[in-house]
Amino acid sequence: MRQYIIAGNWKMNKTVSESVTLAQGIVAAVKNIKKTEVVIAPTFLAAAKVADVVKGTNVKLALQDIHWKDQGAFTGKISVDMAKEIGAEYIIIGHSEQRQYFHETEETVNLKVKKTLSAGLKPIICIGETLEQRNGGKLESVLRTQIVGAYKDISVEDALKSVIAYEPVWAIGTGVVATDEQAQDTQAFVRSVVKEIYGEKVSEAISIQYGGSMKPDNAAGLLAQKDIDGGLIGGAALKPDTFFAIIAAAEAR
Ligand code: PEP
Repeated sequence: MRQYIIAGNWKMNKTVSESVTLAQGIVAAVKNIKKTEVVIAPTFLAAAKVADVVKGTNVKLALQDIHWKDQGAFTGKISVDMAKEIGAEYIIIGHSEQRQYFHETEETVNLKVKKTLSAGLKPIICIGETLEQRNGGKLESVLRTQIVGAYKDISVEDALKSVIAYEPVWAIGTGVVATDEQAQDTQAFVRSVVKEIYGEKVSEAISIQYGGSMKPDNAAGLLAQKDIDGGLIGGAALKPDTFFAIIAAAEAR
């Protein structure tokens, strides 16, 4: 049985005090959640304060990005040691907004995945196609390139510690969600590529989240699909009640 993971990506939302309040609301809401791994990813600025809120609870901390160097002259970046010190367990890597606006490439994704794993943290590796790529018949080649690139020179043992988030770019923040069938078909393809690289045991063990306008009213259908093992949630993660409704749908599966 694969681990269900519902992760909230807060992006550039919430001040530090708002982040603390949101984290407190989520901690209270999910205290009886047992099977589903609940993860929240605040801004870097709020992360240390949010870490204090989630410490000792069943809510895990993620950061939204990482640099692959240990330290030094990299203005605006943070290292895995910094993430580790405050208790982060997951790092979101290769989000489509990073790829689209901040020059993330297959190579930098791979460097970040390696660094994250070497520090004992778990990467949530984001992949996904644009509408143009999907309509142009490039869905599979785009995803294959992203998966092969992210896992370049990563051992089986390390691959088992990773999580994949399949996020069609056209569904992120748009309110346009993939149908249950579209999502399932693509997630199954993603798992088949992992199988090509690492074999069936690994591909059956890795959690693959769906992300892209997952909301309380569509979560149950998506999470019922056999290759969807949770969600990476943007907008609906910014309120305890909507985030909790999605977690409850995962827990009920
Ligand atoms: C995301 O940013 O990863 C995401 C899925 O956002 P939203 O849920 O708002 O579409």
